[in-house]
Amino acid sequence: MAKRGWNYLRNSNREHWFVDDRSICGKFMIFTTSAPFRQEIPEADQCAQCAKRLAKLREKNDPNGQASNE
Ligand SMILES: [Zn+2]
Repeated sequence: MAKRGWNYLRNSNREHWFVDDRSICGKFMIFTTSAPFRQEIPEADQCAQCAKRLAKLREKNDPNGQASNE
């Protein structure tokens, strides 16, 4: 099932919004992580591109705008 939400990678100091193992900014794939995917994180920790695209998903009530850990 889809895992979605904010998560981080070792090679990035910002968190990215992941949908199906890819960040929505298009820069990252995630491999395995034990960290939970989160719905909300401080703005200072967010990748700017991901934040912009996430805002659009939420405007459209797209389910990809909601975090899921399953
Ligand atoms: Zn990003």
